[in-house]
Amino acid sequence: MSPRTEEALGTICTINLFDQGSEELYRRLFGRLSEIEGIFSPHLEGSDTARLNLGAGLEPVELSSSFIYVLDKALDYAELSGGAFNPALGPLIKLWDIGGEARIPSIFEIEEALELSNYRELEIYPQAMLLRRGMALDLGAIVKGYALDELRKILIEEEIDRAILDLGGDVYVHGARPSGDPWRVGLQDPREGLGGYLGIINAQDASIATSGTYQRYFEIEGRRYHHLLSPFTGYPVENGLMSVTVISRSGIEADALATAAFVLGWEEGRALIARSEGALGIFVFDDETLRLVGEAQDVEFELIAGEYRLAE
Ligand code: ADP
Ligand code: MG
Repeated sequence: MSPRTEEALGTICTINLFDQGSEELYRRLFGRLSEIEGIFSPHLEGSDTARLNLGAGLEPVELSSSFIYVLDKALDYAELSGGAFNPALGPLIKLWDIGGEARIPSIFEIEEALELSNYRELEIYPQAMLLRRGMALDLGAIVKGYALDELRKILIEEEIDRAILDLGGDVYVHGARPSGDPWRVGLQDPREGLGGYLGIINAQDASIATSGTYQRYFEIEGRRYHHLLSPFTGYPVENGLMSVTVISRSGIEADALATAAFVLGWEEGRALIARSEGALGIFVFDDETLRLVGEAQDVEFELIAGEYRLAE
């Protein structure tokens, strides 16, 4: 059976189960994706995120156990990254609306949004509530990774030997190739938009998540405003990085670390990944250098684009 592609989680998702694909299993996997979208999407009425945001400063809401699990993880990464990864950045994300209306907000709007983006002003137990009106959670930087983990559980339960899951560029490779060799996953060249590769990631049973300036952005007067926002300045992060890719068995960890490391930049980002056992980080800079940090089990990176070079 050929791979299946459907829209979910606000992106294009492709699942390839190779010769073990059945109609039923494809339906189950995509069904789980729409369930996850129904819980986390800030844009879907009745989702946990939408209800929590609607009740901000007003009333506590009942959350699903999946949501609390992901939220707890997100708060851990917020602490681990000194707030660079911020699950309560909703007001700033909505303000910039990258991918929507192309407009640079005023400094006053940015300050106001940052004021309302303190992830500590959130109560979870015994009931969940954002403490101030106007606060908003956005778990978009971690949900795709969580979704990879959830689908992986189904693959294991169904005793599937090999599969590839691609949720809009966040990928999980399950098992190995029929030859027993690892999968070969292309690392996007951030300069070329969607197309060229600058290297190959050889991996098995691994999640690969990328945060980059090329995924969502708008341009005004030749300047690029991308979707990775600094909770410290309120502007898109500018630190010489074009992308950070993190490879780890855990999808949620890969996704959170990629975003956190991008926002932190090389020095602090590298330290964060070095402290996370089983994670490999690939940092791509706009001067066409790459830096690697950490190690992931059964993972190797090969540089193929001649213009790029590995730096220390
Ligand atoms: P993608 O979703 O494109 O794969 P990421 O996992 O890096 O990439 O998530 C980026 C999304 O996370 C942004 O579009 C925005 O919704 C949200 N975001 C932006 N900046 C931050 C931040 N500093 N902390 C947490 N979430 C962020
Ligand atoms: Mg992420």
